[in-house]
This record gives sequence, C-alpha cells and structure tokens, in this order.
Amino acid sequence: MIKDLLSRNQTWSEQRRAENSDYFENLSRLQQPEYLWIGCSDSRVPANVITGLEPGEVFVHRNVANLVHPTDLNMLSVVEYAVNQLNVKHIIVCGHYGCGGVRASVGGQRLGLIDHWLEPIREVADQQFRCLECGSWTDGELDKLCEASIISQVQRLARTPTMQAAWAAGKEVAIHGWVYGLKDGLLSDLCCTVRQIAD
Ligand SMILES: [Zn+2]
Repeated sequence: MIKDLLSRNQTWSEQRRAENSDYFENLSRLQQPEYLWIGCSDSRVPANVITGLEPGEVFVHRNVANLVHPTDLNMLSVVEYAVNQLNVKHIIVCGHYGCGGVRASVGGQRLGLIDHWLEPIREVADQQFRCLECGSWTDGELDKLCEASIISQVQRLARTPTMQAAWAAGKEVAIHGWVYGLKDGLLSDLCCTVRQIAD
C-alpha cells in the first residue's frame, strides 16, 4: 500500500529526532558529501544502504546500467555540480552482476529506446569479447562484460570536458569503478581508478 510509505516515513523521522533532536536541522543547512555515486537504477542496488552511508554523505546519480553518455546533460550536470560545488573527492561508477541492462544489450532483441541507451555496452562487447551475432552469452560471460563496461564508463567519464576542466583547475577527484554482487551483497573494486587522464 502506498500509504504505508508515508507512515513508515513518519516513524523514521521520529526515530531520527529521538536520537538527535537537531538531526534534520543540521542536515537542512548544508550537504558536504565526499562521494558521487553513479550507479544502476536497479532497486536492489541502493547506494546509501549498501555502503552504510547516512543522508548527506553521498550525492547520487542512477540510470539503467550505470552508463556514461557524453551528451547526457542530466549526468553531466550532476557531475559538474558534485565536482565544482560540492567538491566531492571520489566518484564511484558502480555496476552490478546480474544487470538486466547488460543482459538486454547483447540479447539480440529490439526493445525500443533502451537499445540506443545500451549502445556503449554493445560497443564494449563487440570490441573486447566477440561479435554480437555469435550466439547467447553465459552468466559468466555477462559478468565479465559487466565488469568491462564499468571500466569503460570510468574512462568515458574521465574523457568528458567536465572532468578534464576540473582536473585542469586543480580539483583532486578520483573516479573509481566498482561492481556489486546481488548474491552476496559485496562490493569489489575493479582497480581501474583514474585520478587524472594523461592526454
Ligand atoms: Zn543494473
């Protein structure tokens, strides 16, 4: 029932106030998150919950399959604000095994607008794995494609004029690639951190 959400919210708010009467007062004054999270929209991968971060501690952008499109004004605005105004120190591009977007990208079916959205994953599949017409993918192969896509998105984000300008202005911000396991609830670092791109 949708009304349950409102009553749960009331309970949550009361609990927070009981723990600290200034909790919302303090939070409403400013946010100083150190992290920007770029993750998948999947309901099973909520940034705050899986990292144990409180409200105010992580700025969040989510889309299907955690992709970086250099023309995505929504994502670029989030990145620019996070880096230039909030001064986040870390950007985490986080994907997850069992991602429906990754699976759909190489599934061979035409689904509509989402096919355009998922193109960067097909590009990674085509360049790093095998031709897209070469039969179905096993779960293990999809996991590898998922990791490769995350690494590719880290690099794509690093190449955006937004990030290039931030680094040129001396901003100390790193971009990390992480993957989350739906089956064990664990995050892993894919060790593809970019602090400043060479070119
Ligand atoms: Zn996903």
